[in-house]
Amino acid sequence: MRCTTRLKLSDTIADTLMPSGAVCYAAKPNSFIVGADGQLYKCSVAFEEEMNQVGKLQHDGTMELDLDKMALWTIGGEEQDVGCQNCYFRPACQGNHCPLYRMRTKKRPCPHEKRKLKQVLNLLC
Ligand code: SF4
Repeated sequence: MRCTTRLKLSDTIADTLMPSGAVCYAAKPNSFIVGADGQLYKCSVAFEEEMNQVGKLQHDGTMELDLDKMALWTIGGEEQDVGCQNCYFRPACQGNHCPLYRMRTKKRPCPHEKRKLKQVLNLLC
């Protein structure tokens, strides 16, 4: 039996190539995860890591933030990495595809879409 139905390609793949499309939410200054106790986090896969515990939501609704920890997540990418500053994929990734990966490994967190760009473009075509 032969299948002739074509599966629709996820828009997510094309969106990743758009400006800031490959930037992790953790790298965005206004993005937070709020714990049940008011603890503020940047990343959703490293709750136990102290560098991810960036502040506390106060009872009056204000946020008390540790700006040094915030900087680890929000200005650790293209602002400081010369390799990223010269990268053709920079508009999409901004050196911030995964700040956690960069902090843990000291390596650039290049997204799959850059590493496999030829295959990705073939898919989109
Ligand atoms: S794709 Fe890699 S080299 Fe390019 S901006 Fe992103 S992390 Fe930096």
